[in-house]
Amino acid sequence: MEFFSILYRGAEKTLSFLFPRRCLICGRDGKDLCLACIETLPETYGLHSGYIHSAFSYNDKKVRKLIRFFKYRKRKEVGEILAKMAFNAFSEDFAEAMLFKGSVAIVPISMPKRRVYVRGYNHAEIIAGVFSKHSGLPVVQALKRTRSGKPQAHISSREERKENARGIFSVPDARKKEIAGKTIFIVDDIVTTGSTIEDASRALKEAGAQNILAFTLAATPR
Ligand SMILES: [Zn+2]
Repeated sequence: MEFFSILYRGAEKTLSFLFPRRCLICGRDGKDLCLACIETLPETYGLHSGYIHSAFSYNDKKVRKLIRFFKYRKRKEVGEILAKMAFNAFSEDFAEAMLFKGSVAIVPISMPKRRVYVRGYNHAEIIAGVFSKHSGLPVVQALKRTRSGKPQAHISSREERKENARGIFSVPDARKKEIAGKTIFIVDDIVTTGSTIEDASRALKEAGAQNILAFTLAATPR
């Protein structure tokens, strides 16, 4: 394992020397996403539905491309840039929460271990980390997967997605005291039907969460 990881890191260095990073949108050398292109991204927008807030529309071509790089091609930096933009879009909610630091916690949607291994990281955790860095609010890994469920992106029917997401999360006893009586900010990358977030919300409420808001980078239209 170790050996391969060293080999991989070596290869990655060589590759970035031979193929320097280019902006994923315009192709200019330098960063994953250049400043000029950041400025061409659509305005972040507010609400998705009820307690779920999303920064971007997944319908936007550029946004979709960037999120795919973040999700499926291990471009963490892209996710961090989008997360910072999303944080700015949600600044009102976070500013209010920062006044009550002890009673608000950020909880990323957890991913099955196998999938974290394949994808390289849990995207929700990266986003949660950025929100925490800028707000000072703690991240609590409170959601345990009781079963893995299929990736929601692989299921087309809304009813099936709902069924697939039912009862997938629970809060371990050891985490309950960090949840009980608090306002919880659930964090995920994309919201589609909202059924994953709904199930997370159910588990957190059962663990005593008082108030729940959810924040995602993007929303797909229902
Ligand atoms: Zn660019």
